[in-house]
Parts: sequence; C-alpha cells; structure tokens
Amino acid sequence: MPDASHPAPAEPPWRVGVGWDRHRLAPVAPAGEGRPLVLGGVRLESDLGPVSHSDGDALLHAVTDAILGALGLEDLGALFPDTDPDHEGRDSMEFLDRAVRLMRDAGWTLANLDAVVVLQSPKLGPRRDEIRRRLARALGAPPGRVNVKGKTGEGVDATGERRAVDAHAVTLLMRADRAS
Ligand SMILES: [Zn+2]
Repeated sequence: MPDASHPAPAEPPWRVGVGWDRHRLAPVAPAGEGRPLVLGGVRLESDLGPVSHSDGDALLHAVTDAILGALGLEDLGALFPDTDPDHEGRDSMEFLDRAVRLMRDAGWTLANLDAVVVLQSPKLGPRRDEIRRRLARALGAPPGRVNVKGKTGEGVDATGERRAVDAHAVTLLMRADRAS
C-alpha cells in the first residue's frame, strides 16, 4: 500500500559497474594456439597471445562487462555465448558497440571509465594513449573520461609468469539528460 510518509525513492542519476576478465596466454600461432595480442582494440607485439573463442581482448571484455553490470544486465558470456560459432575470432569491438548501444537506449552516458591491465610483458605504457583514445572513440566519450593503466604481475602468479593477461574495469554512468 502506498505510504505518503515513505515515498518510493527516485531512481539515482548514477550507476556504477565493474568488470573483470582473464585470458590464458600461449605462443602465437603457428607456434601455439594463441591469437595475436590485442588490448583495447590495439594490437601489441608479443610472442604470446590469448587463447580465446573471440579475439581474446581482455580489456574490451572487462569494459563491456562493466557497462553491462552498471545497466544491471547479464554479462558478456550470456550475451555472446562462446559456444556460438558466429563468435569465433570475433572482433570484441562489436561486443563493446552492442553494450554502448544498450547503454544509450536505456538513457545513460559514460561519466568515466578506469581500467587496469595486468600483463607481465610487453609493457602497456608506450601504447597507453593509443588504447585510451581507441576506447574513448568506441564509448563516444572524450578521452579525458577514459583511463587505462598497465601493471605487471610482479613475476608471480599466472600474470607474472606470463600464463595469463587480466583486465579490471570500473565504469560510472550518468543519466544522458544530465550530460549536456
Ligand atoms: Zn575475455
């Protein structure tokens, strides 16, 4: 029963989302089953690359999951099942584009994104700005709202021993009508 003293709370004008992804690394084909190493849509020179059904872009997968999470939706794996042969070798930008469309259709826009890639080598630093710009373009956001940091695994565990690449992302969405 409606209670005038406890009105339904207004929908908050902000939504936060978190995403995480990991891909196993293997020698790049034809030496092994690894795909070329691509992070944030940018190809990096590496003898090791992700083992993945899609192109294995861990950063894009984490960012896509952070947006879907902020929208309260299921994750990337539910939206694009890796059992679907259509997604074999798929460019992960298509997954992100889909999430961005869902975000816009629901009336949200990106306030900011912060992400961390954990990769022992190669170092992300020299390509960091390129990755930021590429991500910002895909998100339809000014580059200043998009941040990406590279960390090593300090030589320990799966990332440090070059057995995996990890990516973490946090997004803050705001109501699109507040953006202008
Ligand atoms: Zn992934």
